[in-house]
Amino acid sequence: MGWLRGINIKSSRELTIMREAGKINARALLAAVQTARPGATTAQVNAAAADVIHSFNAEPAFLGYPGPYPYPAETTISVNEELVHGIPGPRVLVEGDIVSIDCGTVFEGFVADSALTVAIGEVSEEAQTLMEVTLGSLYAGIQEMVAGNKTGDVSAGIQNFVEKNGYQVVREYTGHGVGANMHEDPQVPNYGTAGRGVVLRKGMTIALEPMVLLEDPGTRVLEDQWTVASRNGRITAHYEHTVAVTENGPRVLTALEEDLDLGEAIRYNQYFAGRG
Ligand code: MG
Ligand code: MG
Repeated sequence: MGWLRGINIKSSRELTIMREAGKINARALLAAVQTARPGATTAQVNAAAADVIHSFNAEPAFLGYPGPYPYPAETTISVNEELVHGIPGPRVLVEGDIVSIDCGTVFEGFVADSALTVAIGEVSEEAQTLMEVTLGSLYAGIQEMVAGNKTGDVSAGIQNFVEKNGYQVVREYTGHGVGANMHEDPQVPNYGTAGRGVVLRKGMTIALEPMVLLEDPGTRVLEDQWTVASRNGRITAHYEHTVAVTENGPRVLTALEEDLDLGEAIRYNQYFAGRG
């Protein structure tokens, strides 16, 4: 692991480990999605992901994470107006909910971090469109993850995609470098100016995570001190991948399958998100 102005640069061996972490994490998310059905509790969805992580002798990155109090679960599960950091529990999912599941896995000392929003049964057209735009904005950011670009190009790619579709990006929570720690430099906000920020170099690994809201980008923290919800009470969506800058362009380390091209990945993830 090398250092460049405080940013960890991963060797190819380290990227291989991070890809392994990413595959385990993707399998955990898949198990969570398959569990997220009408009648399931968010605790059951969390347990499905946790079981997969442990089955690979990996560790959950979120459990015990420092905050207002140590984070108490292996995933965060945020329903409808909840945006991020929702705590799994007895809440029962119902037809029409949209559920954002965020999961992190530590494997051989490296972290993979990924999230998606899934529909529970049939959802409103508004919810479906919000999910598709949020996922699209993730890939708009990923395609800017090219050596020589700057973090502002990634941020602007996400923001422009979201805003041209009439939605809002969160301001208070950002994408981030990821590696030996879940949150490393640089921060990559979901808004920004092309040409500004940190130059992207081969071996940088960044978790891009657009969080998208309707009309008002404002958020509020709920009484449990962890859950972040939209200020206006309207539905939200969140997708995230851990992405490496490589000599061959962006590499999605948290994809379920190796070497999907971006177009395929988008179709695959839409299927994955829509059908479970
Ligand atoms: Mg995450
Ligand atoms: Mg993250």
